[in-house]
This record gives sequence, structure tokens and C-alpha cells, in this order.
Amino acid sequence: MSLLELKDVHAFYGGIEALKGISLTVNEGEIVTLIGSNGAGKSTTLKSICGQVKVTGAITFDGKNITDQAVHQTAAAGIAHVPEGRRIFPRLTVKENLEMGAFSVKDKDVVSQMMERVFAYFPRLKERLRQLGGTMSGGEQQMLAIGRSLMMQPRILLLDEPSMGLAPILVEQIFEIIRELNREGMTILLVEQNAYQALQIASRGYVIQSGEMIMEDEASVLLESRKVKEAYLA
Ligand code: ATP
Repeated sequence: MSLLELKDVHAFYGGIEALKGISLTVNEGEIVTLIGSNGAGKSTTLKSICGQVKVTGAITFDGKNITDQAVHQTAAAGIAHVPEGRRIFPRLTVKENLEMGAFSVKDKDVVSQMMERVFAYFPRLKERLRQLGGTMSGGEQQMLAIGRSLMMQPRILLLDEPSMGLAPILVEQIFEIIRELNREGMTILLVEQNAYQALQIASRGYVIQSGEMIMEDEASVLLESRKVKEAYLA
């Protein structure tokens, strides 16, 4: 059984049909990547899963129907969404941002254990605990956004373009951390414009175009596909 399954999902913004009946599965322990050009529907797919846009069709998580659940419900079920553009709290410190990620955890010891785990992935955050989130660099804010989502001990991470706007060396680092998280058991659905790197760390991939899935295969097969090479790996 897949951990996450979308079946014939349609999403609308007013009269615009952003998703035209897409299907996708993510199994426990996988990195699955969703690639596609601007406006293809990648972010909308993630927003559909976490309950930010209304959909028709069926979305199941861990065997339960979560179609059209509210964001707080999908979060409680273990779905962590790290949106595009690193929405951290700019006026809160790094530490406070991380604590916000664990707002539903009452036990302070558990919160500090989770924070130590986040610091193991992102040592930079530990050095900057009292710095205001908004004054961190782009790459640091991305790390903070991912770190904050880990604080809720999710079962799946939905990452929306984590490499966007980062210098090449930071892009490498972010992909390495994603790989590391996965090695330690985290299931990840990764949306990326950086198709080459995403396919290199993923086990499977999907290609979305104008709201429709046009390809789906092992990541290694997609990397070799002429169509993918021409359209997305140029
Ligand atoms: P990008 O890589 O540029 O972020 P994307 O693949 O993530 O693209 P989406 O953000 O999912 O694309 O957008 C899919 C389509 O839905 C686009 O045509 C977009 O203009 C439209 N869309 C997205 N959000 C809204 C909204 N709030 N209102 C109206 N249309 C929207």
C-alpha cells in the first residue's frame, strides 16, 4: 500500500482547471520527484495534498481518505508542507521559528530533543538561535523552513522548490540534506525546476504539463529519456 495516493485529482482556481485529473503515488521511504515547467501545476499538487486548495477526486494518506481535509488536519496526520519561498516568521528568532513547528507538542523535553535532531542536519541553525529569521540568508531561511517542518515529526515531507534562488553550493547542500533525511527514513515528495538534480536523488519521478501527468517512471529512466532531456534538462 502506498503511503500517499492521488487518484484522478482535479483542482480549480475559479474557472481555471489547474489539475486535470492527476494520479500519483508515494511509497513509504521513497523520494519521488514531480517536475514540470512554470505553471504546470506542481505547487498546486502539493497544496491539494495538504488541504490548501479544494479538489475533486481522491487523496488517501496511510489508507485514510484526506481529500479536502483542512491544513491543520493534514498536518496532524503527519504531512509537512514546505512551501515555495521559505515562509518563515521573519520577526521571530530562529529558536522561536523552530518552536512554532512543534506548537502541538506539549512536552518541553521532546521539543528540545527534536531541536537537537534538526541541528544535526543544520548546524548553522544552532549557531544562529537568537538571530531573527528575516535576517538570515536565503539558504539559511530555506534550512530554517525545512527544520521547522521537521519539528512536527512528519511522516512525509512535501518540498516545494527547495533549491530555488540558492547559490550552486547551497543547492548541492540542500540536495545532500534531502538525501540524508531520506536515508534516515523520511518519505519525500519533491517538487523541483532543477530536474536534473531532483531525478538524481529520487527513486521515481513524474512529469506534469498543463495540469496533466505526461510521464511517470523510475528516475533513472526519466534521466535518460530524450523527451525529458530536451524539455527539462536543457
Ligand atoms: P511554478 O514552477 O511557476 O511555481 P507550478 O508548476 O508550481 O509553477 P502552479 O503554481 O501549481 O504551477 O500553478 C498552476 C496553474 O494554476 C498556473 O496556470 C497558475 O497561474 C494557476 N494558479 C496558481 N495559483 C493560482 C491562484 N491562486 N489563482 C488563480 N490561478 C492560480
